[in-house]
Amino acid sequence: MNWVEELRAARQGKLIGGEIFFCPEVDSTNPQARQYCLEGAKEGTVILAESQSQGRGRLGRQWQSPAGVNIYASIILRPPMRAASAPHIPLLAGVAGAQALARACGLEARIKWPNDILVNGKKVAGILSEMEAEGLQVRFIILGVGINVNWQKKDIPPDLREIATSLRAEGGREFSRAKVAAEFFEELEGEYVLFLKEGFSSRLREEWNRLSWVNQKWVTITVPGRKFEGRVLGLDADGALLVIDGQEKIQRFIAGDVSLRL
Ligand code: ATP
Repeated sequence: MNWVEELRAARQGKLIGGEIFFCPEVDSTNPQARQYCLEGAKEGTVILAESQSQGRGRLGRQWQSPAGVNIYASIILRPPMRAASAPHIPLLAGVAGAQALARACGLEARIKWPNDILVNGKKVAGILSEMEAEGLQVRFIILGVGINVNWQKKDIPPDLREIATSLRAEGGREFSRAKVAAEFFEELEGEYVLFLKEGFSSRLREEWNRLSWVNQKWVTITVPGRKFEGRVLGLDADGALLVIDGQEKIQRFIAGDVSLRL
């Protein structure tokens, strides 16, 4: 059984990954998933690729996506909720991702707000959430995820080596992509189903804050046209990131066109 068949078998009958469309190579899984979505693909459908020629990060940045070693997946979600709640989805995906990597690999994974998962301070996974609304309601959300699984240190481009890593590089052994992806889908499904019932709960907020890499750290946050420096206090009850500056002034940030540097 190849890894895709193994993953399909592990997710049979489940919401997330119960249906998996596999592409050996795509430009980027998110636009592919959008296309499937517009053609009526059901919630939880996953577009999985072996490699991406134009993998994307946020704000038009590139996501390196070599073949045969990592996971590149986009998940179709159709939450019956208002568009204003959409920023909570990447937060719960971050919690699911960090928990899944810890569970599948025994590594301590942490969330770097807004959309990265770090192991030992380096980026091992990225999450890119794209929403389409109809009036005030969410029409669908495409959750793109890239997880560096068996990428060898020597193959990580030199300009990324300081900031990027893989499960293999940190764990010192290879990991099963099927098991890592299955664990992520399982955690994501659990968090998503709870979110649909409870909304952005205090449990989810506390879990996020517990897994956060940036809490209590001094950071620079860049929003278009402005920079803000301060110490991160964590997420508030609405899911906004609270940052306090040297004058004790607290600012709230919602993920979007925002960048955070340590
Ligand atoms: P921010 O900190 O604002 O989220 P970011 O630099 O983390 O910004 P992302 O959109 O999360 O931006 O991801 C894209 C960036 O991640 C690239 O510019 C590059 O620096 C880095 N990168 C690209 N490919 C990979 C990869 N496979 N693994 C880890 N990091 C990568």
